[in-house]
Amino acid sequence: MQSRLPEYCDLFQLADKSATMSGVWPIAKLPRLLALLSSDVGEAVVEFEFGKSGRTRFLKGTISADVEMECQRCLESATVSLNAEFSLALIEDELNSNKVPEEYDILVTEGRHFLPDVIEDELILVVPLVASHDYECSSYLNQQVVEPVVQQQDEGEKKPNPFAALKDLL
Ligand SMILES: [Zn+2]
Repeated sequence: MQSRLPEYCDLFQLADKSATMSGVWPIAKLPRLLALLSSDVGEAVVEFEFGKSGRTRFLKGTISADVEMECQRCLESATVSLNAEFSLALIEDELNSNKVPEEYDILVTEGRHFLPDVIEDELILVVPLVASHDYECSSYLNQQVVEPVVQQQDEGEKKPNPFAALKDLL
């Protein structure tokens, strides 16, 4: 079992120390992500690598999580694997973002930072717009079966025309 990540860290200090960090964070404690899911089960597995490249302090890492989303074919729960990989430049002021090398995305921080926000932001970026089972789900198959069966009229046994009798009266 991996241990749970701390909530608050000083990202600048960690970058200056070239620290690494790994751990888990429960999906149930990521409310903005949770709004996109059908269940709060599971946890995010997180690997963080802090450091400095030239004058750029960075946070690189990977986050993976198996989450439950509503399948858009059968409306049952489907497991979706989220995998995020990111390189964030840690900057204090967005005005300095033009000094950051292109390979980084920007994370504006005062240093002390609520780590689950990073996890949540990165996972939300990789949530698929539409989720579905990666196999032909059972209800999908049922749907094919219950399609209305077109009644074939027996050509040889034509029903009497209801207006035929009416014609005799005229
Ligand atoms: Zn399905």
